Amino acid sequence: MKEKLESLLQDGIARINAAKTEPELQEVKGSLLGKQGSVTLLMKEMGKIPAEERPVVGQLINRVKNELSALVDTRREELKLKASEVSEDFDCTVPGLPPMSGGLHPIIQMCYDLNDAFRSMGFEIFESTDITSEHYAFDNLNFPPNHPARESMDTYWLKDHDKGTAWEKLCLRPHLTGDSVRYLQTHKAPYRFVYPGRVYRNETTDARHERAFYQYEALIVDKDFTFTAGKVMIQAILSKVFGRHVNVRMRSGFFPFVEPGFEIDMECQVCGGKGCSVCKNVGWIEVMPGGTPHPNVLRAAGLDPDEYTGFYVNIGLDRLVMMRYGVDDVRLFHSGDLRFLEQFR
Ligand SMILES: [Zn+2]
Repeated sequence: MKEKLESLLQDGIARINAAKTEPELQEVKGSLLGKQGSVTLLMKEMGKIPAEERPVVGQLINRVKNELSALVDTRREELKLKASEVSEDFDCTVPGLPPMSGGLHPIIQMCYDLNDAFRSMGFEIFESTDITSEHYAFDNLNFPPNHPARESMDTYWLKDHDKGTAWEKLCLRPHLTGDSVRYLQTHKAPYRFVYPGRVYRNETTDARHERAFYQYEALIVDKDFTFTAGKVMIQAILSKVFGRHVNVRMRSGFFPFVEPGFEIDMECQVCGGKGCSVCKNVGWIEVMPGGTPHPNVLRAAGLDPDEYTGFYVNIGLDRLVMMRYGVDDVRLFHSGDLRFLEQFR
C-alpha cells in the first residue's frame, strides 16, 4: 500500500507539472482527487487493510492528498501568470491599426450647419414622414386640379394607393411644403420653423437634377414681416454657413403656393461672381425659391390671410453643398461612392 501511494504521488506530481492549460490541469485534478480519482479510490480500499495499519496508512493518504492539492493550486497560479505574459516575438514598436471611423455625408453636414444657424435665430426644427397624400402634397398648396405636377410624370404614386379621394391617394413627398401646412394646422401662430428632408421626383437625372434630393424649408408666419427682413435673414444664414459674407439677390418667380413669389440667388462661390462653368458664366446660382405664403395656403392652415403674412424659402441643400465644395455634378453626392465621399471627412 505504501509503495502504491508513493508511486501515485510521484505520478501525480509529474502530471500536474506537465499540465499546460487550466482546463488540462482541472482534468488532472479530477483524475487524482475527484470522486472517481485514484487517491479517492485508494481511500475506499482502507477497509481491506489490517486494523492496526489503518492509522498510519490513513495519515499517509491524507498527506498525499494534501500535497497533490497544494501542488494543483501552485500550478494554477503559474499557468495564470504565463497566460498574461507577452510572447517574445511581440514588437511593441509596430504602429497600431487606425480604427475605422465614419463621417457625416456632406449634405447632412450642410443640413446640420443650417439647423445651427436657424436655431440661433429662434427657429424650431420640424420633421415629418416621406409618404404623404395628394391632399397635403397639392390641394392645400393651391395647385389647380389639372396641374401637370400631379401626374405620374413628376410624382411617385404608391401602388394600390393611387386612386380615390385626395386623402386616399398616397405618394412619396414631391416637396416639403405640403407637410409645412400640417405643422401650421397643429401649432399656434406665430410660427418660425425649418423643415429639412428628402423629396422625390420622377424625372430624368442630369448633372443638376436627381430623382431623390434634399430640401430645406424655412417658414415664418407672423402678423408683420417684411421682404427686406427676410432677405437680410437669408444673407445672415448663408454667411454663417459659408463662414464669409455672401451676396444674395432676389428675382421675381412664380410658384402656386406663394404670392408674390421670388427666387433667391447667391453669388457663385466657385468663381466669386466672375462667371464659371458651374454658374454658367452668370456669376449667380439659384439656391432657393420662396415668397409670401399664398392666401389659400394660409386659409388651409386655418389662418386669416388679412391678418397674417409670412416669409417662406425652400433651400436646395444639394445646390448649396455643390457651392461649398465647388463640385459641379450633383449625382456624385448620391452615388454612395466612398472614394468621393471620404474626401469630405
Ligand atoms: Zn461661378
